[in-house]
Amino acid sequence: MAKDAGYCFGVRDAVNLAYDTAEKNGDVYMLGHIVHNENVVKDLDTAGAKVINSLEDIPNNNPILFRAHGTTVETWNDAKAKHINIVDATCPLVLEIHAEVKKLEAEGRTIIIIGDHGHDEVVGIASQVKDAIIVSSPDEAKSLRKMKQAGVVSQSTQTIENVQEIINIIMTKVFDLRFVNTICYPTKRNQSQIKELAKQCDVMIVIGSYTSANSKRLTALAKERNAHSFQVTCANEINPKWLKSAEIVGVSAGASTPDNIIDEVLTKIKEIGQVPEETIYG
Ligand code: SF4
Repeated sequence: MAKDAGYCFGVRDAVNLAYDTAEKNGDVYMLGHIVHNENVVKDLDTAGAKVINSLEDIPNNNPILFRAHGTTVETWNDAKAKHINIVDATCPLVLEIHAEVKKLEAEGRTIIIIGDHGHDEVVGIASQVKDAIIVSSPDEAKSLRKMKQAGVVSQSTQTIENVQEIINIIMTKVFDLRFVNTICYPTKRNQSQIKELAKQCDVMIVIGSYTSANSKRLTALAKERNAHSFQVTCANEINPKWLKSAEIVGVSAGASTPDNIIDEVLTKIKEIGQVPEETIYG
């Protein structure tokens, strides 16, 4: 089992804050899901932390909780103008990216964000500056025009490999380039652990939702090193055939996968393989 699999501190703190606020206030509202996991969303809803689509949907002066991966400047301003009580669960490492991108803009640089188009974190980073260019792949980087001065940051959960490849291309386009490596350290740690683990194991299982960008990236990193790598969202999706004749099974999980789902998957693997104990990798 990868040592730091599952919730990163940013997501864990945000989920805890959602439960605490719901307990204190009765209800708290969030613009979208706090983690990419149906069970957690349902459980939070029962506890009083509910998902809405727009600030207009908040009833009776209840508070809004801004999620770990950040919120656009427009939404912040809108909530303030409406005098909504804001509970801010933005991860400090996302706030650091917001600060860095503003510094790069103040230096007069064209802003490039390496990240997924439409992802909430990327949209939030882009909103901090006037005209950000989003680049998600080396192909997109190739189509960039030549520039005199540019500043680059990345979405916190990007892979180092994707960022490196894109930066190499951007270097050929920009005369004065400043790159701030804003991949967060929990992401770097998870990625380096899965790279090692995938090589040591016969089969690799990654637990995470298919809508979670970082779970998909962990699966891709595992697959590059071990063809017998599979992504599952819960224990029921494990096919016993995958584990046939495997001696060592590695497990990791995306930053939005809750502990109970990880435990259920471990129990299932141990049942299938009749394993007395799992080995903790570290
Ligand atoms: S993935 Fe990184 S930046 Fe995002 S919430 Fe977790 S710790 Fe914070």
